Amino acid sequence: SSAILWFRRDLRLYDHAALLAAARRADSVLAVFVLDDNLLRPAGANRRHFLYGCLRELDERLGGALLIRRGDPAEVLPELAERVGAASVHASADTNPYGSRRDERVRAALEERGIDWEVTGSPYAVTPGRITKADGTPYRVFTPFRRAWSEHGWPAPAETGVDTVDWLPSDGLGGLPLPDGDPEATPELPPPGESAALRRWHEFVESGGLAEYHSRRDRPDTAGTSRMSAYLRWGCVHPRTLLRELSRLDHHGAGSYRNELAFREFYADVLWNRPDSARHNFDPRFDRMPLDTGAEASTLFDVWCEGRTGFPVVDAGMRQLLHEGWMHNRVRMIVASFLVKDLHLPWWWGARHFMRHLVDGDLASNQHGWQWAAGSGTDAAPYFRVFNPTTQGEKFDPSGEYVRRYVPELRGLAGARAHRPWRSDASLAPDYPAPLVDHAHERQEALARYERIKNP
Ligand code: FAD
Repeated sequence: SSAILWFRRDLRLYDHAALLAAARRADSVLAVFVLDDNLLRPAGANRRHFLYGCLRELDERLGGALLIRRGDPAEVLPELAERVGAASVHASADTNPYGSRRDERVRAALEERGIDWEVTGSPYAVTPGRITKADGTPYRVFTPFRRAWSEHGWPAPAETGVDTVDWLPSDGLGGLPLPDGDPEATPELPPPGESAALRRWHEFVESGGLAEYHSRRDRPDTAGTSRMSAYLRWGCVHPRTLLRELSRLDHHGAGSYRNELAFREFYADVLWNRPDSARHNFDPRFDRMPLDTGAEASTLFDVWCEGRTGFPVVDAGMRQLLHEGWMHNRVRMIVASFLVKDLHLPWWWGARHFMRHLVDGDLASNQHGWQWAAGSGTDAAPYFRVFNPTTQGEKFDPSGEYVRRYVPELRGLAGARAHRPWRSDASLAPDYPAPLVDHAHERQEALARYERIKNP
């Protein structure tokens, strides 16, 4: 008997619950990836490039058995299943809005032909939608969610690998050559694939990065975070694999890291329960927030995207995004706050720019990270707490090293002076722009706008 394993956001062989399910059902398994333009088009060059690299690695590990097809999965998979005589198609759950709708169409198309559709596991330790409050409604606040998530628990990693099944050869099934990569991608992306993911993780643990994580994670000037996000995004590693290692370690770093993984699970749960929150304010009061959207707003937005706002930490972050396809979490919060509260632009403009460039761009974490900053999300930062981009820079990049790394125009300013170029002789940073706005004034403006929506 044979089965199909349809890879999506689970580009690995270890700890793969759907692979294990396929192995239990069938003697041989066809490995398939479907290039779906509905997902690839908005993914941006960096994510496409990273994805292609992951697929090449997976194919190598499968001895060339990964079949690449392009098209609508609801047409491609039933056709393939009939051609190879597969009785079932296996996948890990995709709980994003588009993925859920697409999978429903795939299930219906397979069932019409008498082929089983079997979903096992998901990209999360706990599949979104599983955890509810005692009254059956979803959590809207992180801390009680995290508690319930920990209590719910998850199974040990599935001990799977290349030898778990016999892989059906992919010859003669209309396969496409693996894409080489995307020429528009930045050369600074992390190395793709499962082996690279595990290597990166072990490096982080063994170098002491994890043990120090809680004290260094907020410092963009140090390599204080794991840089595992792209690997988690594409499922090169399952979070359960990481959680098992964390559970064996008894230090603050491990607890703090586990907390961040829980955030990832929380946002996925929120998106699953409220698919509309990918595009709309989670808190409907914010639908009435006056926003700037005209021609002048577009110009301000372009300046923000290019990292030329005259606020060093904002510009460094925006340029890091363009340069590396990644931005430090603290700086993501600062630049998002700046877009919303200093420029009064819609958070979804910023979210779209992030999704175009981030190699780890993930709908749930991104849209809810943005809504947190905009004050319109679950558990959001109180709106009246407006980040001051200058003091944030000084606090989290005290030596100015981070801003000088990404903004060469500031290299003439030593130490923390790089955060207030307007206080130094203009000849030291002649090419750096003056601040785009007056932060103190825009802060008042943001608070005044908030007053108008606060009480319905
Ligand atoms: P580490 O600090 O090493 O964290 C470990 C892992 O925990 C991360 O890889 C990630 O999977 C998870 N994690 C950490 N912080 C968060 C968080 N706040 N929310 C959800 N998961 C988290 N993360 C994405 O993966 N994709 C996105 O598109 C994304 N967009 C964001 C947009 C904004 C406005 C903000 C404020 C945050 C966003 N984040 C996003 C969360 C966070 O910034 C990144 O996960 C983190 O910077 C990735 O780097 P790292 O792997 O070194 O993180």
